[in-house]
Amino acid sequence: MKRIPLHWQILGGMVFGVLVGFIFAYFELNQFVTDWIKPFGTIFISALKLIAIPLIFASLVKGISDLKDIAKLSKIGIRTIGIYLLTTVFAVTIGTTVVNVFKPGKLITEETRTELVEKYAGDAEKRQEAAAEQKGKGPLQAMVDLVPQNFFKAASGNGNMLQVIVCAIFFAIAMVLLPPHKVETVKSFFDGLNEIVLKIIDLIMLYAPFGVAALLAALVADAPGKDMFLALAGYALVVLAGLGFLIFVLYPTIVALFAKPKKGFFASYFHFFKGISPAQLLAFSTSSSAATLPVTMERVEEHLGVEKEVASFVLPVGATINMDGTSLYQAVAAIFIAQAFGMDLTLMQQLGIIMTATLASIGSAAVPGAGMVMLVIVLGSAGIPEAGLALIFAVDRPLDMCRTVANVTGDATVSMVVAKSVDKLGDPKPQNWDDHLAEA
Ligand code: ASP
Repeated sequence: MKRIPLHWQILGGMVFGVLVGFIFAYFELNQFVTDWIKPFGTIFISALKLIAIPLIFASLVKGISDLKDIAKLSKIGIRTIGIYLLTTVFAVTIGTTVVNVFKPGKLITEETRTELVEKYAGDAEKRQEAAAEQKGKGPLQAMVDLVPQNFFKAASGNGNMLQVIVCAIFFAIAMVLLPPHKVETVKSFFDGLNEIVLKIIDLIMLYAPFGVAALLAALVADAPGKDMFLALAGYALVVLAGLGFLIFVLYPTIVALFAKPKKGFFASYFHFFKGISPAQLLAFSTSSSAATLPVTMERVEEHLGVEKEVASFVLPVGATINMDGTSLYQAVAAIFIAQAFGMDLTLMQQLGIIMTATLASIGSAAVPGAGMVMLVIVLGSAGIPEAGLALIFAVDRPLDMCRTVANVTGDATVSMVVAKSVDKLGDPKPQNWDDHLAEA
C-alpha cells in the first residue's frame, strides 16, 4: 500500500489537533488537555532536541572532513554569513515599510491600550527581566562566548549550538590536516554515527503527526480570549503579510534565480516547496527553529540536493543566527507599539530600529518566544516604552509560529544558494522520507 506523504500526515495531525483543542475548550476541559494531551507534544519536541547536538556534531565533522581543502570552507563561511546578513536586513526593511504604510497602531483605541497593558503587564515584566540579563554584557561578549571552556558543558545545552559548531569545525579541520591513514578509524566512526542519527530522525518522524496534533490541541486550549485577537488583528495582519512575502515570494524567487534547481521559475518554485514543506509544518507546530533543525537538514540534503559539506554548516549556523522572520516581526512590533502610544518616530529612529532588530534577531535563541525577549532591547534602544510589550502579548504565539516558518525557509534558501555557488548543489538523493519510513 502506498504511504501518505509526510507533509500530508503532518498537516492531517495539525488539523486534527486544532479540532480536538476547540472541542475540549468548548466543554471547558482545558486542564484535561494540559494534563493528558500536551505531554505527547512535549515528548516530540524533546526527542527532536535530543538529536540536535549529536546531529550537528556528527554531520559537521563528516561534512568538513570530506572537504579536500580548507580554503573551500572559508569560502562557504564568508558567503553564508554575508547572505544571511543581507536577507535579514532586507526582511527588516520590508517590515518597517509595511508597518509605516498600514499604520496598524493607530487603530488601537485608548481604552483597548489600557486594557491590554493591564492584562499583560506581569508577562511583559518577565520578558524585560530576561532581556536585562542579555543587555548587561560587553560588546565583544558574543565573540568570547563562541569558544567554550569545556566541550561537554557546551554540548549539554541546546542553547550553546554555536559553541558546538566551533568545536566540530576545529575537530574536523584537524582531521583534514592529518595524513588520512591516521584518522581512518575516526572517520568511519563519524560516518556510522551520522547514519545512526539520521535513522533516529526517521523514527522520530513516524511520531510527528501525533506530536504536532498534541502540540496544536494544547495551544488552542490555552489561547487567550478572542476579543484580544480582534483588537490586534491589524497588527497581526501586517506581520503576516510581511512573513507571507518572505516565504512565498522572496525565498522561492531567490532559489529560482540564484540556485536554479530546475529549469524555469515555476518548476523551481514547486520543487523548493515540495522539498521543504515538512520542515515548514514542523516549524509552525513547534515554534522553534532549533527543534526543527534535524528535519530541515534532512529535507535540504535529501530533497533539495544540497551536499552535506554545505548543509551541515549553513543550516545549524542559520538556525542560530539567521532569523529573518523574527527581525521583520521585531521591526513591525516596535513601530506598532510606538504608533499605539502616539509616538512619531523620525527617520533616524527608524534606521536605528532596522539596525537593532537585525542584531536582536541574530541574538535571539531558536526557541519559542525568544524573539519577544529580544524585542525589549529594540524597544529600549529606540526609546519606546518597554511596557508596550503587553500590547502584543495576546497574539504573540501564532505570530511566533509563522515567523519560525520564515526563519527555517530562509535558512534552506541560503543553503541552496551557497551550495550552488560552490558547485555543491546536485540532484536530490533518490531515497526520500517515505522510503525511509517504509524501511523503518
Ligand atoms: N521561535 C523563533 C525560532 O525559533 C524565534 C522567535 O522569533 O521567537 O525561530
